[in-house]
Amino acid sequence: MARPGKVWLVGAGPGDPGLITLKGREVLRRADVVFFDRLVNPGILVWTKAGAELADVGKEPGGKRTEQEVIGRRLIQAARSGKQVVRLKGGDPFVFGRGGEEAEALAKAGICFEVVPGVTAGVAAPAVEGIPVTHRGLSTELVLKIGARAEGSVSGRTLVGYMSVEGLKEFLEKAVEAGFSPETPAALVSKGTRRRQKTLVSTVANLAADAKRLEIQPPAVVVVGGVVALRKWIGQQSRGRLAGQRVVLTVSQALGKGWRQLFEDQGAEVWELPMTKITHLAPRSSWKKEVGRATWIVLTSGAGVRALPGIVGDARKLAGKKIAVVGRTTAEILKSIGLQADFIGPGPGSEALVRNWPGKKAAPVLHITGNEEGGGFTALLQKKGYRVRRLVVYRNEGPQQMAKPVREALIREGADWVIFASGTAAKRFRRLVPRWPMEPKVAVIGPATAKIARRAGWRVWTMAKQVSGAEVIRSILDKTR
Ligand code: SAH
Repeated sequence: MARPGKVWLVGAGPGDPGLITLKGREVLRRADVVFFDRLVNPGILVWTKAGAELADVGKEPGGKRTEQEVIGRRLIQAARSGKQVVRLKGGDPFVFGRGGEEAEALAKAGICFEVVPGVTAGVAAPAVEGIPVTHRGLSTELVLKIGARAEGSVSGRTLVGYMSVEGLKEFLEKAVEAGFSPETPAALVSKGTRRRQKTLVSTVANLAADAKRLEIQPPAVVVVGGVVALRKWIGQQSRGRLAGQRVVLTVSQALGKGWRQLFEDQGAEVWELPMTKITHLAPRSSWKKEVGRATWIVLTSGAGVRALPGIVGDARKLAGKKIAVVGRTTAEILKSIGLQADFIGPGPGSEALVRNWPGKKAAPVLHITGNEEGGGFTALLQKKGYRVRRLVVYRNEGPQQMAKPVREALIREGADWVIFASGTAAKRFRRLVPRWPMEPKVAVIGPATAKIARRAGWRVWTMAKQVSGAEVIRSILDKTR
């Protein structure tokens, strides 16, 4: 199925390419089409992918300019044709950038869009010159105002208040004194862009009471002005189905490559805390001989599979041998290096593989594994009278500890989802974070991991059908429909 098109309204920052956000750079990197403004530093465009269409829709003062309606139409057209579109604007897209108009047009046309805020020039340019726009004891108010001759300068004002939950009532009273009518739309945005983001829309007269009743939490900013009403349209952003949720990825960096991005695409706040670090040991010549003597090669982990080519050197050395794997997850990884398993344990875990062991008593078995004993496969099969040798080819080490503020934040605030790709990770993470304000939902990549995770006290909600980030997400989204 073709991916539907989407438009990201991205703030490019005030000029220094380093001042675009990480999120902005990431969507820029993947865009099929980029519509950029005159104020955007072209140096930022080096991050676009090869073959991306780069369209200059800059407005030269006095010179040729692309009409706003034309830009809107081109954005809509590009998105409708299934493209990933970036509308790149100097500074922040919603600070005098007409980004609001474009967002409104997109919303009305039913196009998926999302705003990626940027660093606005009005704050950044003074800052780099040594001028803080607010300063304790000197300035309590910051007004962003457009030049007198610019279009749109005649309409009303927007008032944005910081540190606004406690003194909200007084703040709004002062707004009335300053000339805002009590009927002016007003909104309180709590935890903006963070987990549990919440917005309350009301009027200057009622916002304080509403906020109190709904127990809106700080940090929050209050916005007063006609612009609040635009939320009806521009509030329809497609921030992804995991927006506002915290996902902890415990998957090793080797396996979890690219997973972070996939979760972020769904709007999640991702904490990468790998619980396994695999260090492959340098292959020894004796290992090759061990493989030579075996009839059966047994693999109980993905890391074991990935070590195999390095051990044998030449895949033909495996000719005539049989390969057994602990479950379908490992079988899949084996397939990815071009080998088919002769026997797949019915799962979960090594016990099931041993119970159903297909080999003859006399046939020598080589269990290729790591320092974590691979579910005890070697010992279990030996006990049944088989000839088994265990070959340790990698070390699987977890973090001994976790940065204190990270651990404390998890204990205090929790997480919505935790992802495990191995039982080892599930056990280690439980040891590092034993207490949670609310047990997170857990997603795993296979039945063996699910079993161990449950034993470690996790609530396993969902299991991916394949070992990939995309499948993990699919299984989560199926559960959160
Ligand atoms: N959306 C932009 C502003 C667009 S209006 C933002 O958030 O920054 C364009 C105006 O922004 C310019 O006329 C100038 O006043 C200001 N501006 C943009 N980039 C600037 C820079 N690097 N230094 C100083 N002013 C800048």
